[in-house]
Amino acid sequence: MPHATLPPLTRRAFSLSLAGAGVSLLRSAQSDMHWALISDTHIPANPAEAYRGFKPQDNLRRIVPDVLKANPQGALVSGDVARLEGLTADYEAARALLQPVSEKMPLALTLGNHDHRANFLGVFGKSQNGVQSVSQKHVLVIESAGLRFIVLDSLLTPNSTPGLLGKAQRAWLATFLQQSSDLPTLLIVHHTLDDGDGSLLDAPRLFDILKPHRKVKAILYGHSHRYAYEMWEGVHLINLPAIGYNFNDDQPVGWVDARLTATGGAFTLRAIGGNLEKDGKTVTLAWRP
Ligand SMILES: [Zn+2]
Repeated sequence: MPHATLPPLTRRAFSLSLAGAGVSLLRSAQSDMHWALISDTHIPANPAEAYRGFKPQDNLRRIVPDVLKANPQGALVSGDVARLEGLTADYEAARALLQPVSEKMPLALTLGNHDHRANFLGVFGKSQNGVQSVSQKHVLVIESAGLRFIVLDSLLTPNSTPGLLGKAQRAWLATFLQQSSDLPTLLIVHHTLDDGDGSLLDAPRLFDILKPHRKVKAILYGHSHRYAYEMWEGVHLINLPAIGYNFNDDQPVGWVDARLTATGGAFTLRAIGGNLEKDGKTVTLAWRP
């Protein structure tokens, strides 16, 4: 049976189904996806805690009504949910702040290098929407009739910068991509994919796995607290801005309102701090055929 229970409001659009051999998917009957993309919330247990002049709790509290007003089908937080070490009290604060969102729509959370898997699962639960059976990792698959998200787990060690998918998750991903339909697919992972010592250490092996699969259209990630668009072999690489704080004044603090179809996406920045220059601006991308 499916693992997750969705709140009544979302049952109209989303249902959990078993597809293939034991794969639990969060599935929507609609073909397009409208999602709120949030990253690096860095929620501390203490509401007064600040970094670089930003209070992460205040920032998240401030965007929740904006997300609800945008009325997306779902919301994603791509890692570094917790402030630094992934303390249980941090997750309790994050869960409370996100509750108005999770009451209304599916909320997909993945883990970053400032998260702690056991503490995270202890607060948010092991049976989240679309959860996959992957050894030691928290992996989700979310599908609409026209598009698929695969949410990966790159947490290696809490409060240490680099990330790793690891062999078991890479093997799961390779098999899933081979056995799944050709639905246009977007990957979500916390870590940046460059060759930096603090990035995803097995990014080259991830790219090797993705190479034969033209259905993979984009990879979304956070980690750098930068808002940027790049490309690898026709696959869009989308670096989501942070909500908690930026690392540089030239970067926005905010979230991205994404309208996705089988052929592309429109990504609108909703900045609330830092560099506000691109606030309200939309980047339109076409997926490779
Ligand atoms: Zn971060």
